[in-house]
Amino acid sequence: MKEKIKQLAHAHAGEFVANRRHLHQNPELSYQEYNTQKYVAERLKEIGITPTSIANTGLVATIEGRNPSSKVVALRADMDALPIVEANDVSYKSRNQGVMHACGHDVHTASLLGVSKILYNLRNEFEGTVKLVFQPAEEKAPGGASVMIAEGALLNPTPNKMLGQHVAPNIPVGKIGFREGMYMASADELYFTVKGKGGHGAMPELGIDPVLITSHIIVALQQIISRNRNPRYPSVLTFGKVIANGATNVIPNEVYVEGTFRAMDEEWRADALGRIKKMAEGIAESMGGVCEVFIQKGYPFLKNEPELTRRMKGAAIDFMGQENVIDLDIWLAAEDFAYYTHHVDSCFYRLGTRNEARGIISGVHTPTFDIDESALEIGAGLMSWLAVSELSL
Ligand SMILES: [Zn+2]
Ligand SMILES: [Zn+2]
Repeated sequence: MKEKIKQLAHAHAGEFVANRRHLHQNPELSYQEYNTQKYVAERLKEIGITPTSIANTGLVATIEGRNPSSKVVALRADMDALPIVEANDVSYKSRNQGVMHACGHDVHTASLLGVSKILYNLRNEFEGTVKLVFQPAEEKAPGGASVMIAEGALLNPTPNKMLGQHVAPNIPVGKIGFREGMYMASADELYFTVKGKGGHGAMPELGIDPVLITSHIIVALQQIISRNRNPRYPSVLTFGKVIANGATNVIPNEVYVEGTFRAMDEEWRADALGRIKKMAEGIAESMGGVCEVFIQKGYPFLKNEPELTRRMKGAAIDFMGQENVIDLDIWLAAEDFAYYTHHVDSCFYRLGTRNEARGIISGVHTPTFDIDESALEIGAGLMSWLAVSELSL
């Protein structure tokens, strides 16, 4: 089976690259993936697979093997691009000015189309069902994954296990990374408006200084991270925007603050958000002002089910060789695949796409992001192998 998958991946690698280039040239923003959805649906139908639309611009489909109801493994690709002007001078440069596949979701989609081709060819040779999940809007709240789940992507059939992959520009092409347990963070957005009473900078006694109140709030809130958090769970609180539009001699009426809170435990996340709100409001009140707190909840933390992840890592070693499978560090970025991981035993792993010799080193979400396209044959082949390995248990 492994050799058959490798042969099919190799034989169709040119087609995987062509699909990726088409998607890369025609990127669409989150929740607007209409042409992408159409393109993916057409390719699936050519293979012989009938997809169903979901979440407006998403698709689900199944490939039934022998005994289709025995076990279901879902495979996910995200399809949206970012509002970035592409700076790469390549033949497949974005034709949609100001929109770019700078997070590799074109690669994930093309890989999953590759998996579809490979596993449809081999459908009489594995047990169970492979469920294909093409989702919109990974990059934008509330996250396409949450919409997919709300609209039943995990029903009829319900997957027993779920896999997702993401490009990794820091990992050399040819290598794959895994991490079991907590891997990526929840991310909630914080918006504060601290209100006081402005006036002349020389007469602070006549007003209520919101700049000073905000300073106290920002310093005090860090102590939630250092004093209330269980040190075993990483957590971050960052304020990246503070606007106090006064002057050297003007105390403003209010200060506007934006920040992000990240965590790797849902209980702590809820606790911390409560503390942040209470402390910010309390400090402002104690100093005579008001702090209005608005929290936009984002994606949950991403957990890789340990036993599944261990098995997938073992299967990857079998497919790629021990030297090409590495362990990943915890990373406090967020990813909406996390939603699935709270419903189904899941494994989210990294596909190396870096090639230093060819200058392919830019990070995701940058205008010069690109990949070594030999990652597509690996991405499609490995994901096919991981799915059938899990189904054959
Ligand atoms: Zn991204
Ligand atoms: Zn991404």
